[in-house]
Amino acid sequence: MNIDCLDSLRGCGGAGFPTKFKWNAVRDASDAFGKVIICNADEGEPGTFKDGWLFDNHCAAVINGMRRSAEHVSANRGFIYLRPEYSAQRELIVEQIKTMVADGLLAPQSGRIFQASGFLGRPAQLDNEGLNLVELSALDWFVEHGSHDLVGETQQSGGLSHSEDPQYPLPQNEEINEGFCLDICIGGGAYICGEETALIESMEGKRPQPRHKPPFPTTSGLWQLPTLVNNVETFWWAERLLSGEWQEDAERLFSISGAVNKPGVYQAPVGTTARALIDDYAGGVTDNTMISCWIPGGAATGVLPASLLDSKMDNDCLREHGTALGTAAIVVFNDQSALEVSIKIMQFFAQESCSQCTPCRIGCAEFADYLADDQHHWPHNGSVDEWLQTMELGSICGLGFTAPLIVRQLRKHFDFEVQHAS
Ligand code: SF4
Repeated sequence: MNIDCLDSLRGCGGAGFPTKFKWNAVRDASDAFGKVIICNADEGEPGTFKDGWLFDNHCAAVINGMRRSAEHVSANRGFIYLRPEYSAQRELIVEQIKTMVADGLLAPQSGRIFQASGFLGRPAQLDNEGLNLVELSALDWFVEHGSHDLVGETQQSGGLSHSEDPQYPLPQNEEINEGFCLDICIGGGAYICGEETALIESMEGKRPQPRHKPPFPTTSGLWQLPTLVNNVETFWWAERLLSGEWQEDAERLFSISGAVNKPGVYQAPVGTTARALIDDYAGGVTDNTMISCWIPGGAATGVLPASLLDSKMDNDCLREHGTALGTAAIVVFNDQSALEVSIKIMQFFAQESCSQCTPCRIGCAEFADYLADDQHHWPHNGSVDEWLQTMELGSICGLGFTAPLIVRQLRKHFDFEVQHAS
């Protein structure tokens, strides 16, 4: 299959890795024991809700994008790793899979539901009280409540299963002879499960901690098989481009939430200014109030001042401001300061750190306390800069090495001063 039309497509899950390169890497890997496709629908980045919207509105296209990738890399197993709160989307996916099985597009055994291991218990994100009330934005909840109530529990391997046939862990060695077999794996509920190797660990029934890389999943992923992991939106764009439905320059789905009149998911060209997205797409700021600060691409991209609302929403422009497009999730604040929002984000990271590496485990917690301290007193011998740099260089995954961005953005854009120990 010729996939040259994917030349400019980059992953939409936050890291922005070139899609064509990843697909070809899996295609070129050994297929002696099979290959796997995983659709990362964990969607845990606060402020981001486009993947749920895609399943609501374009479920068939997402699955067809997975089918095309499976054909390209010669994989016969596929999984949608689905955020546990997305129970409505789960029903839609199951129905879509049934239809495709009946049409002969998926293997007959498709549609089974497995349960990954992980961390459950974030109260705002339970099916019955969370996402519908907060426009699918977890950030809304923890900005209001803080992270101190986020008490969770580690789930036992082999615990829950939504499947009528509760196989656990996933059936590794089964023969799939009749096309592409697509199943659903309900995520473990942890933020870190969105990191692709932690996601794979979780699917294998282990504690979801990111793996050291290399090897990358493209050569050694689920059950050590070559594995293609892409975000929901990436599969959707791939399907649109490969089917010829979309030929324009790059666009993205922007999740816009917070203090706007019409929070929602909007498709717009990459490079549209944040102000245009807020005013022209999301109906402007609530009650015509002033924006105090905003987040450009999900909580991990930090907080920016209102003076930068005319910035183009693309990586080049945002990089000049010390941040990135991330998941293209804009969150607008009109009643909270940048410091207040940054404290909540850092508390969230401290809560969600998987604890595997020391700089992240200790650094996130220390910086959460430091930001929340009235005097911003830094009690350690090593300087703030040394600690930030240690986190950036010594963390295994993106949570640890992007968390310092929260502090750096406060210092760069909001005159945040460091008070050292006397
Ligand atoms: S950086 Fe943080 S979340 Fe990532 S592996 Fe290390 S401890 Fe875990």
